Amino acid sequence: MKIALVAHDEKKPEIIEFAKTHKDLLSRCQITATGTTGKLIQEHSGLSVNALLSGPLGGDQQIGSLVATQNLDMIIFLRDPLTAQAHEPDIAALLRVCDVHNIPLATNRQSAEILMSYVKQCLEGGENSANRTS
Ligand code: PGA
Repeated sequence: MKIALVAHDEKKPEIIEFAKTHKDLLSRCQITATGTTGKLIQEHSGLSVNALLSGPLGGDQQIGSLVATQNLDMIIFLRDPLTAQAHEPDIAALLRVCDVHNIPLATNRQSAEILMSYVKQCLEGGENSANRTS
């Protein structure tokens, strides 16, 4: 299963903790992330992460491109709803392209936990329940 992880600065501690909590499952997936998020996850969890450009420098657009080309199964994007982001248009475009391609997107921790339950079900439930995996 191909999963993208992204977190705004205020949510970086939370995504690190999330990655550590779900390390066993995530280690069985292909993980892509925006630059800073990816580096921090690798450093703190030991997970192997394909870190793209930093979000404000185009990383969100790179992830959007993976969605558009059917190369991602889901996105966990812990957004900071209380801070204005310089790259807001890129964020809006990423959310939009997920809706265009019907890609599951969690923008808060509880939704992310629900998606991880789905990941667990796919990985442990056999091929039939994981028809988006590759
Ligand atoms: P970052 O990007 O992981 O490089 O900080 C995240 C974002 O703000 O989109």
